[in-house]
Amino acid sequence: MPHDISNSSGSVEPDRALVRAERDLVALGITVAAIVLFVATGGMVLPQVVRSWMGTGVAPDPLLVSVLLLNIALVIFGWRRYSELTSEIAERRRAEERARRLAETDPLTGSLNRRSIGPATDALLTLAKDDGRSVAFVMVDLDNFKTINDVNGHQAGDILLCASADRIRALLPRDALLARLGGDEFACVVPYDPRYSDRIDHLVGMLIDRIAQPVDYNGLSLEVTVSVGVTANADIECLQTGESEAQVLIHRADIAMYHAKKQGKNRFFWFEEPMEAELRFRSELETGIRRGISRGEFVPYYEQQIDLATGELAGFEMLARWNSPSLGLVGPDVFIPVAEEIGLIGDLSERLIEQALQDAREWDPRLSLSVNISPIQLRDPWFSQKILKLLVKHNFPPHRLDIEITESCLHENIGVVRSIITSLKNQGVTISLDDFGTGFSSLTQLRTLPFDRLKIDRSFVSEIGATEDSDKLVRAIVSLGDGLDLPITAEGIEDMDILAKLRTMGPLKGQGYHYGRPETTEAVRQRLEAAGLLVSGTPDRSTPEPESTEHRKTG
Ligand code: C2E
Ligand code: CA
Ligand code: CA
Repeated sequence: MPHDISNSSGSVEPDRALVRAERDLVALGITVAAIVLFVATGGMVLPQVVRSWMGTGVAPDPLLVSVLLLNIALVIFGWRRYSELTSEIAERRRAEERARRLAETDPLTGSLNRRSIGPATDALLTLAKDDGRSVAFVMVDLDNFKTINDVNGHQAGDILLCASADRIRALLPRDALLARLGGDEFACVVPYDPRYSDRIDHLVGMLIDRIAQPVDYNGLSLEVTVSVGVTANADIECLQTGESEAQVLIHRADIAMYHAKKQGKNRFFWFEEPMEAELRFRSELETGIRRGISRGEFVPYYEQQIDLATGELAGFEMLARWNSPSLGLVGPDVFIPVAEEIGLIGDLSERLIEQALQDAREWDPRLSLSVNISPIQLRDPWFSQKILKLLVKHNFPPHRLDIEITESCLHENIGVVRSIITSLKNQGVTISLDDFGTGFSSLTQLRTLPFDRLKIDRSFVSEIGATEDSDKLVRAIVSLGDGLDLPITAEGIEDMDILAKLRTMGPLKGQGYHYGRPETTEAVRQRLEAAGLLVSGTPDRSTPEPESTEHRKTG
């Protein structure tokens, strides 16, 4: 069995009382003394008894006979006490062994657990080194396991975990270890011949393929991929930190696994030194984002959206920027994914939308405001209520707000997404499908979800003219929009040529660097002021509105 570590004890303290009982010398001493006394008195008394029975001698002294009988009683008592004690000890030893196994085993999958894998790895390392072998530590983490749990229930999740453990176990050599470290994370420790390290690559490759096979559950087919990090003791030359070798292996395999996740999941990496620096940067980024949100370092920038037929300004798309004190102006591609992962995207986004609503109230009421929403936010059943609350708080007409969601939102729990979209639309907010063409939305979804607009992804638009395919694709999307009665916005209009081509395709809206880069609140204000598109009597921004002061206090 790959997970048998019966020899790697040391994790459970020996029971001192048990050890004392085992050495219960008093009981043993009484028995031995009684036996010695029995031999001494018996040697004297018994011949006299025999002679008296045969009528050849006098009866023994009654006192001596009593001593002998007392002696026999003592031997029986001592012996019984001693044998009771030993069987009790044996029973307690068995119970202790059971407790130790339970403490070291993951009850769901029967493999080792986080607590026992360290000592077991160290024991295996010692054994392997003695026979000149290396030990690979393989960290296996299921991708998107939470979604499977959420969508199909915890029982389905458990079945998937057990099936994954079985599949891994079946692939491991006899002397390998398997542990479940928690949630959806497994570790394998595999001794191997250092001359053939490619065998570990082969093993991990098979492991990734095998786990990806569907698992049957009540007629459903559950599928999961894994991200894997690998490291080996051969890599560890020195241990300056005072950690055990197993701890270093776990740490490094974890970093490599994390790297595999970052690189798109469903793959494996061997640990390399630079990964650690990357991880440190990432953790600094997380800290910076947390601090930046509370210090108001995140600000809205705005990109113009133009009616291509008339050339008139139709509104702005709000794009988040981070004024980081250490990194300078940071784009959303860097911080949005991190904020999503650390669970701060909702908070960040609501603060930005709130600022944008305040900014947009100064604009001409015909101008719309588009905001981008992360798929994570659409998991929140209260999302539409939160938006509506902000609209009411800032007295912003819902029809001026447009919410851009990407196709990846449609892979989320579609029921929740649908009810959020419907509830927003009922209030008058419009919904656009962003980055259209890059995801996998089906025509059915397009028809059944009440979108107001499609935004063609800039990767197609900016290639118009450069490649014939892009040209055809954009035309096809425009006619799809026509057919579905969905107006279209083209993103990424970078020059006059693209604009001219788009104008031949129909009445589109558009945006892109041709019209200018995204701008700050103040730059937009100046632009609108020059165009006479600023609401007259706009409040001076230097005096905070009472409402927003209130919010800062409570938020
Ligand atoms: P997006 O929604 O597709 O936004 C358009 C992106 O394209 C912006 O990048 C914009 O600066 C850039 N862009 C505009 N015109 C052109 C052009 O002509 N050529 C090229 N090459 N690029 C152009 P940005 O601001 O870096 O935003 C990147 C993405 O970050 C956005 O893509 C959006 O998905 C996301 N994002 C931005 N702000 C937020 C936010 O507040 N919340 C969420 N969840 N996502 C946001
Ligand atoms: Ca967008
Ligand atoms: Ca887009």
